[in-house]
Amino acid sequence: MKLPPNPKEMWDYIDFLPIEERNNVVSLGESISPLLEAKNLEKQLGLDNLYIKDYARNTTGSFKDRPNSVGISKAKEFGIDTIVIASSGNASSSAAAYAAKGNMRCIVFVPESTPKEKLVQARVYQAEVFKVKGHYSNAFRLAMEATSKYGWYNVTTTYLNPYTVEGNKVVAYELFEQIGVPDFIFVPIGAGPLLYGTLKGFKELKMMGKIDKYPRMVGVQAARCSPIVEAFEKNQREVKGWTKEIPTIASGINDPLIGYENDGSLTLEAIYQSKGYGVKLQEEAILESIHSLAKEEGIFAEPAGAVGLGGVKQLVDKGVIKPADKVVVLVTGHGLKNIAILAQEELKLISQLTDLNNNLTIKKEE
Ligand SMILES: *Cc1c(COP(=O)(O)O)cnc(C)c1O
Repeated sequence: MKLPPNPKEMWDYIDFLPIEERNNVVSLGESISPLLEAKNLEKQLGLDNLYIKDYARNTTGSFKDRPNSVGISKAKEFGIDTIVIASSGNASSSAAAYAAKGNMRCIVFVPESTPKEKLVQARVYQAEVFKVKGHYSNAFRLAMEATSKYGWYNVTTTYLNPYTVEGNKVVAYELFEQIGVPDFIFVPIGAGPLLYGTLKGFKELKMMGKIDKYPRMVGVQAARCSPIVEAFEKNQREVKGWTKEIPTIASGINDPLIGYENDGSLTLEAIYQSKGYGVKLQEEAILESIHSLAKEEGIFAEPAGAVGLGGVKQLVDKGVIKPADKVVVLVTGHGLKNIAILAQEELKLISQLTDLNNNLTIKKEE
């Protein structure tokens, strides 16, 4: 197998993805996402090579389109007519879109706290949406039960479906074309298949003899739900389910892993293998990451999508990251997917006008 000469889309890597027939590919045009040098943040943080990989720029506004495009193409190959997914919101709106494109029925289980924007998105694509009381792990369990009871095909983007994980590894192939092997990659993690998949892609590149080292993978969680980072901090191998139920604004990574703790341990293992880190962010730091990305770099991310930047700040402060290191932050979800947390504050600052004839003063900086 050879790497494609001029990759423009994820499916240019079809030889490396688990699909036999190109005809079965269910695609909405998964373009290679841009890698943007964060020049303003470089100055702020004293770094020479800080890049943002903008994965929010997928069809449905999150990186979940990658795993779903692969998982649902495989469903097509298996002749499946109904897929089911448990999701904190992004994976289900994405699965709903790909199911629509692939002529499949889509059943969705989400926690009751899922942001409205994501629920509406899934509904507009005609998914059948069920809100589940409590946290994400409850939705996960119900989707599992429905899978065995009705024989549906489960594309839940934990490690449950082996095909969706493959969609995540293309990050590595893309980055390899764009800047080679970074020194650090910061990834927001729930269960963590995006982090695991990214490292898997680099392992494959190493097996092909294209590279001779791995990036250090840094998993970033919200402090309020950080089962993997807690295990990392205690230098443990096994992740425990998170029973402290405190909501975080980073709903997209709010995964307590209860009942499938081993998924967290797999991610932790990938972090150790790559000599990486686990980092957690308090709520204020998550908000600050959203604002810095927007104000400094013109990138609007949802809370879960923004946490990578806060992780960089912590490891710069600790002296782990050196100024010359090549650092990549994965931005995983678009800001428009979760407006409520910012709306109150921002809407207050909008000026109302009827005409320009009186009283328009432009505020000058003192
Ligand atoms: C799902 C999701 C994540 C976490 O990805 P996992 O690979 O499931 O850990 C991160 N950010 C956003 C925006 C997500 O929707």
